Amino acid sequence: MTRSPGHRGGPRGRRPVRGPRWCRRGPGRGRTWRRAYEAEAAADARGPVPDGTGQHRAAPGSTGMILPAGRRTRRYRPRMGAVRGVRAVLIDVDGVLTVSWKPLPGAVEALRAVREAGLGVALVTNTTSRTRASIAATLADAGFPVEAGDVLTAPAATAAHLAERFPGARCALLNSGDVEEDLAGVNLVGLDADGVDVVVLGGAGPAFGYEALDRVFGHLRRGARLVAMHRNLYWRTDAGLRLDAGAFLAGLEAAARVTAEVTGKPSPAFFAAALGRLGAGAGEALMVGDDVESDVLAAQRAGIGGVLVRTGKFLPEALAAADGAPDHVVDSFADLPALLARLRPVR
Ligand SMILES: [Mg+2]
Repeated sequence: MTRSPGHRGGPRGRRPVRGPRWCRRGPGRGRTWRRAYEAEAAADARGPVPDGTGQHRAAPGSTGMILPAGRRTRRYRPRMGAVRGVRAVLIDVDGVLTVSWKPLPGAVEALRAVREAGLGVALVTNTTSRTRASIAATLADAGFPVEAGDVLTAPAATAAHLAERFPGARCALLNSGDVEEDLAGVNLVGLDADGVDVVVLGGAGPAFGYEALDRVFGHLRRGARLVAMHRNLYWRTDAGLRLDAGAFLAGLEAAARVTAEVTGKPSPAFFAAALGRLGAGAGEALMVGDDVESDVLAAQRAGIGGVLVRTGKFLPEALAAADGAPDHVVDSFADLPALLARLRPVR
């Protein structure tokens, strides 16, 4: 297709370009859209960040809002109310505060600063290898100001979900890690038991062998319900990315023609439970994570401001392919106090 100067193509055909860039959406879009497009034009002028992510530099003194290249015009929607007046912060653990349970640089100091600023803090993790008490003890030993009551795990959310949805059901657990303490009250039976009502899928690891997965498939074919703690496809260790349960879950769902009920992130109920614990509304909270889908965009769909860190499992290609843009992208959790200082209203 040939295009004459002053026209552009696209699904709506050739339309003349009139006036500056923010006008192209048409008249009457309001000041918010105008500000957004002026900010976009300014980001274009500053040029891309030289890190291969295709992102553009944030304005000096800005909130750090950086929009993925090629998706900014179509997907960006200003949500000013979601990130102003922050009172609470939900924080992912693995890949944000730690990798392989070792603190990331500056993370301990940053969490202390967030505490000292008086914000509510909840650690919301899909970790399925340790109990809440074990996670809190490990983080506290590393210097993080954390207690067990601050930690919400996918296994604990799963126990609450099972008690509500399937009270007394015979539940077969497939999980690599020791989380049975957080599943107190759940009627657990072995994977090789008969009459299983619910299969509970936790985190992947050596337990996810063929025999175990085939037993799960058999239970599902006989009518058992499927509850999954999360859909994470991979996680980061100090030895690199490792395959997680989401990859196995997709295969089981396809083979047995079922859809799992997910209890950890990205479940809206998981975020709601964390907000309820802190007594904060979604519009008063930020979620900080390294998984653009399960942490950040899922939180944003629940009305929570989303902050993506470039540590842990962060991959530029995952951000570029994501079905939306984070409210904020920062290099690491160490940058959170400065971001919060810019977002909190001056009293
Ligand atoms: Mg993580």
